[in-house]
Amino acid sequence: MSINASGWRPEAPVAGGKASPTVTGNKGLMLEEALIFEIGDSETTGVDFASSPSPLRGEGPSGTSLGSLARTTPIGLPGLSEPEAVRHYTRLSRQNYGIDLGFFPLGSCTMKHNPRLNEKVARLPGFADIHPLQPVDTVQGALGVINELAVWLIKLTGMYGVAMSPKAGAHGELCGILCIKAALEARGEGHRKVVLVPESAHGTNPATAAFAGFTVEDIPATAEGRVDTAALKARLGPDVAAVMITNPNTCGLFERDMKAISDAVHAVGAYVYCDGANFNAIVGRVRPGDLGIDAMHINLHKTFSTPHGGGGPGSGPVVLSEALAPFGPLPFTARYADGHIALIEEETAGDEHPHTFGRMTAFHGQMGMFTRALTYILSHGADGLRQVSEDAVLNANYILRSLEKTLDAPFAASGPCMHEALFSDNGLADGFSTIDVAKGLIDEGFHPMTMYFPLVVHGAMLIEPTETESKAALDQFIGALRSVAERAKAGDISLKSAPHFAPRSRLDETLAARKPVLIWKDPGLAQAAE
Ligand SMILES: *Cc1c(COP(=O)(O)O)cnc(C)c1O
Repeated sequence: MSINASGWRPEAPVAGGKASPTVTGNKGLMLEEALIFEIGDSETTGVDFASSPSPLRGEGPSGTSLGSLARTTPIGLPGLSEPEAVRHYTRLSRQNYGIDLGFFPLGSCTMKHNPRLNEKVARLPGFADIHPLQPVDTVQGALGVINELAVWLIKLTGMYGVAMSPKAGAHGELCGILCIKAALEARGEGHRKVVLVPESAHGTNPATAAFAGFTVEDIPATAEGRVDTAALKARLGPDVAAVMITNPNTCGLFERDMKAISDAVHAVGAYVYCDGANFNAIVGRVRPGDLGIDAMHINLHKTFSTPHGGGGPGSGPVVLSEALAPFGPLPFTARYADGHIALIEEETAGDEHPHTFGRMTAFHGQMGMFTRALTYILSHGADGLRQVSEDAVLNANYILRSLEKTLDAPFAASGPCMHEALFSDNGLADGFSTIDVAKGLIDEGFHPMTMYFPLVVHGAMLIEPTETESKAALDQFIGALRSVAERAKAGDISLKSAPHFAPRSRLDETLAARKPVLIWKDPGLAQAAE
């Protein structure tokens, strides 16, 4: 089969199955790109290796000392010349969307700008080129970063201690719930097996509780989008280990009864876990410690601007109350009066931290994220962080009020939202749903909002602008969404097959998730086998 220099096969249909308006499949300067297996061949290579040095030479069939281990068949990897390899990956990267390209309104994810200053600091050799097994005396600066960030997180949350090592929000949830489990067992109440979780919770909350061996029970939401406090209080009892509450919640609303809820939970001997993924809305204004929280993870990659998406990286330190701190994981840093920073590990924990439940990670956590988060915090200062939450909330309310007449906003009457605006698919034409609006937005050049979450709202569209978007960017997005929403309300049939201008059109996402095709099979070989 012939393959031309750009890797495009004239006889093959453009992947995705849609006829393209151009003969090449390219759209303007957005270039079509085949799989590397389709464009590579075994003759080409970007690197010329020298023949193996003499110690490897021997009497084996290939003239080496590998004997029967020497490969006799081709390795089956596609070969590309260096320029072909560079172009292949660069073209693929252009089909990706990221926060550096445009607005990313994904609700609950806090996709804010990642300042370049953070990146510069994280790359300083003193931070980037060290190893976690180095003697602590040689990495005092790096341990100082962990320690100083820990102090800031404790101050900002009004909590007693912090476990820095968890590597994501969900990992932090597990850490917090394991602290709760250890605390219950320490007082002989390991029989408490129920964790109460509101219906609107992120899926990681019930998953965490179940993974840690608890039984999960739902708590309903009220019509105004908040936890049904009466139902929660009615369910509290001696079998309840903890409640897990997201505040601000996933409907974008602050749980005003949080302190009363915490008091009621503590009164029956249980603990309060707070999902702190939405901390961006209240940082600098509300201290979760004042609301009676016992444990809360902080997604550094959300609130404190470290890059994320596509599954990583992340960092999820967990702040702990005085009741739970003794059970927190190892290792942690401690600064002594002489300025020396110690790393408390198993060898030294006996005296300092006898009740720890164990470790969450091999080493100390996500060092690169710590450096970036501390850079962000120090460059904003305390007043700047307060401004962050104010601007994030202002931006979300601007979107909510600008669109509430176009899209159904189920909790608009509950007052101002926090950092995200929630809409439903109520009022779209028959047969049209949230996904059609989301796909239409792609054609307008915007990453879609979070769809169908939280589950308590039908066809939910959760939009989180963050503080880093300008009014001009918001106006452009509002205009685009208004136009797409009007088309969905009018039943514009072209929306059903959107996106039309993306590298790939509407995909069968369910099929892709249920039956992913992860292995490329050479169609030539498949044909020959038939
Ligand atoms: C992002 C998020 C999580 C999970 O955090 P990860 O860092 O992705 O593991 C949990 N709860 C809520 C509400 C979130 O938005």
